Amino acid sequence: MVWLSIATAIVVAYTFLNVASRIASASGRAAAAWLLGGAFSMGVGLWATHFITVLALELPIDPAYDLTKAVISFGISLAICALALTLGGRVTLTSAHFAVGAGIMGIGLWMMVHSGISGIRVAPPIDYEPALTVVALLMAVAASYAALWLALRFRRGESCGARLSRGVAALVLGCVIASIHYIGLAAAIIAPDAQSLPGTTLNNGWLSISLALFALGVMGATLIASAYEAYLARHVRSSMFTHDETGILRRDTLTNLPNRLALAEAAEEAIARAKRDGSTFALMVMNVDRLKTINESLGREAGDELLRELSQRLRSVLRRSDTLAHLAGDEFALLACDLKDPHDVERIVAKILDALRDPFFTRKIELHTSLSMGISLYPHDGTSFEVLLRRADVAMRASKEAGIGGYRFFTPDMVRLEGNRLALETELRRALELEQLELHYQPKVDVATGRVRGAEALIRWRHPTRGFLSPGAFIPLAEESGLIVPIGEWVLRRACRQLRAWLEAGLPPVRVAVNLSAKQFRQADLVAVVESALSESNLEPGYLELELTESAIMHDAEQSAATLQRLSTMGVHISIDDFGTGYSSLSYLRRFPLDTLKIDRSFIRDLLVNPDDVSIVRAIISLAHSLRLRVVAEGVETKEQLEFLRQLGCDQYQGLYYSPAVAPDAFAEIVRRNRSERPEYTEADMLKTQSRLSAYTPSRSTNA
Ligand code: C2E
Ligand code: MG
Ligand code: MG
Repeated sequence: MVWLSIATAIVVAYTFLNVASRIASASGRAAAAWLLGGAFSMGVGLWATHFITVLALELPIDPAYDLTKAVISFGISLAICALALTLGGRVTLTSAHFAVGAGIMGIGLWMMVHSGISGIRVAPPIDYEPALTVVALLMAVAASYAALWLALRFRRGESCGARLSRGVAALVLGCVIASIHYIGLAAAIIAPDAQSLPGTTLNNGWLSISLALFALGVMGATLIASAYEAYLARHVRSSMFTHDETGILRRDTLTNLPNRLALAEAAEEAIARAKRDGSTFALMVMNVDRLKTINESLGREAGDELLRELSQRLRSVLRRSDTLAHLAGDEFALLACDLKDPHDVERIVAKILDALRDPFFTRKIELHTSLSMGISLYPHDGTSFEVLLRRADVAMRASKEAGIGGYRFFTPDMVRLEGNRLALETELRRALELEQLELHYQPKVDVATGRVRGAEALIRWRHPTRGFLSPGAFIPLAEESGLIVPIGEWVLRRACRQLRAWLEAGLPPVRVAVNLSAKQFRQADLVAVVESALSESNLEPGYLELELTESAIMHDAEQSAATLQRLSTMGVHISIDDFGTGYSSLSYLRRFPLDTLKIDRSFIRDLLVNPDDVSIVRAIISLAHSLRLRVVAEGVETKEQLEFLRQLGCDQYQGLYYSPAVAPDAFAEIVRRNRSERPEYTEADMLKTQSRLSAYTPSRSTNA
């Protein structure tokens, strides 16, 4: 019977470590079920251990037992086990929880032993030896301490080693638990002449065996259930993450995260689980802001490196039960299950934002990146994966529109916006055929002489119902959908034809600048398109200027250099738009045949109030001049700004102060008026300036 009690105690200890590990890796209702079931089977086991030790006691008399005391001791046993599992199943324990918890468990264990022993009904009543009683109490507390420590230490892992250490831990812990019972029993002094009081007497042998069998049966069932669940978890995980064939299909090769397919499966499981236990979960779509710019300015490898680092950082702040997937390019998704309430999602968002606070070091360059996030909730926003994903995506875009680096929960009115977007794309596709697009022209003026030297062609969309749209409302959409390529080509041809028309109408010559988007610049036939636009309108290339952003050029610097060289050799002017806002180093300026830098209007805006902007503008101007580039200031709105720029030695300016972008006829009128006020300026003059400037080109290319 002694051996039987020790064996039972060891199984109790093993069950404890095992169920604690189940609880730690489950959440919500599953965790609660494991807690209740585990506490019951452990409670039965612990109590059986104790009762067998009492029955094992060989007394000269056949004592009677007080069954109420036995029931009380069973109740205490259940309570201790529930407490032990609650604490041992926590992901982390504060030291205060740990100490107080172990103390309560120890005292409970000791009380349980005592209430059991005091159930032996003899006269005179049982006396206790103080020293051994205290030893039993101390051992009970120490054992509880050890049990919790072991649970937190050994519960993880399904490897052979982990299971072996759990086994050894259970062996030791079981022996300690059994000894507490025996020491408690040893402390009990039963007088040699004690008489048994009337009451229930029990057949010790058979009762012990049936009790032990019952307890072992209950715990065995628990352990089998636990093993099955561990198997399932392992199986599901391995089908998603191992290197077998199906695994590769379910993993993103760049980040090694689950891909869309794996996410879909995880979501289906989450849906099934949520249906069963009425829980809720969130699907979040995250978009890496400005990845495109990083790819374009630092190269694709840098972008990839950033994505890898980003996914590791995200993974490290998320729970193991959360599925983080890499859907494509700059898009990640997160499946967060078993939420208590939607505020849990906000906590996750806070963790993610926190993880992005520190810069990333990609190729030794410090980069800050942000994520725009959209969230949909099951079952609130949808009951199928597709719907949830679509709505999270819609919410993400709404968040991005409101400013990058934020998050939004899905709301039904977003669908309308999204519908709008789709409709807009379709309409934009047709806008070209229906001739709803127009070019307006904004004068570029000499700072020193006040002469109009050129114009920037800026696109407008005369929409039949939405009104007169500025490029901000549809150019991003055109870029995303690829429509920018045909639209850009149309702009190029239209601008050339317009200039031809002006020249034929006798307007003094001006140079027309056209904006090229990055995608358009990368088209293999760009040079051919430019050539054909020029020849179609019978224009000299010197009349045309192309405006490109730094990031568009830096995307593939090698290829860009070749394209720019061809355009420049033809005689087309190249200018860098929004200069000062890109990520690039300045050394690229020497490598490309450039003519003009356009200082971004953000620097001009606060020129009079912000000394830093003055320094930047002054530096850009002197840099440009030392590289023999012309400088144009954008967004000049006041006389004071212009005066300042004059002092700083800026060559040309553009802005509302002189004129906004206007329709072609209005522009022609502006130029005529401008020229009648100023000395005559001929086509030959302009081409002369052009050839003088292009004479610098060879020296710059030698530098390169
Ligand atoms: P951008 O090339 O930097 O064009 C200058 C923008 O500044 C224009 O806005 C212009 O109207 C605005 N602007 C001019 N003067 C002032 C001023 O004094 N103050 C302020 N605050 N703004 C001023 P717009 O026309 O809305 O164009 C915005 C952007 O759209 C352009 O920026 C350009 O990047 C793009 N874009 C315009 N037309 C085309 C096009 O035909 N093709 C491509 N790819 N992009 C275009
Ligand atoms: Mg521009
Ligand atoms: Mg600009």
